[in-house]
Amino acid sequence: MLISPIRAFDDNYIWAIQPAAGAPAVIVDPGDETPVLQWLKTQQVDLASILITHHHWDHTDGLLPLLKHFDVPVYGPHNPKIEGISHPVAEGDRFTPAGLELEFRVIETPGHTLDHISFYAEDILFCGDTLFSAGCGRMFEGTAPQLYNSLRKLAELPTSTAVYCAHEYTAANLKFAAAAEPDNAAVKQAQQQVAKWREHDKPSLPSDIARELAINPFLHARNAEEFAQLRQWKDKF
Ligand SMILES: [Zn+2]
Repeated sequence: MLISPIRAFDDNYIWAIQPAAGAPAVIVDPGDETPVLQWLKTQQVDLASILITHHHWDHTDGLLPLLKHFDVPVYGPHNPKIEGISHPVAEGDRFTPAGLELEFRVIETPGHTLDHISFYAEDILFCGDTLFSAGCGRMFEGTAPQLYNSLRKLAELPTSTAVYCAHEYTAANLKFAAAAEPDNAAVKQAQQQVAKWREHDKPSLPSDIARELAINPFLHARNAEEFAQLRQWKDKF
């Protein structure tokens, strides 16, 4: 399987999943159709299906324009505000997206937004704006206990699970992690590694659950109150 980042806006990643090179791609969170169409053209591949994690415009604005070019199934949350979802899915649903022979399980992860879902298949996770490397999404709609519980669910996935987040926020998140946990050697090591990747314009993603358990201060909160305090601090950091 191939998973490629398609860059959009300042720091979004739209992920493209293919069973093999040259095969039709499953696109995750097309916030902008232009880089997706460009990527499909460059790779000379078709679009197979689309996954949507939540309603924010930078994850959905390319959806209807893509559907004008390709008549494909779209899997996403039960949210009537998102036009174009043909297959609404919810917690525990299992489905095999068109184009892949890979079964995904839906994990509801509210907190950043109330409709946020994540897609998990063996050893891969697409978690939108819920979990970032060394950080997590802001609480735009949900409460601290909701986002805390959502992150707990993701933290309990197998440690080898590759984590495909939707933004390149890792360096800034690590700066906060270093302030929150000044004695965390894994954070310092990650800062050096990420600086090197970014210097060469390489994505810092995917991460994996083992790495996040080591470097992500939000996964170290022992309860929702501790989590809320960290999140408030980070909002002003
Ligand atoms: Zn968002």
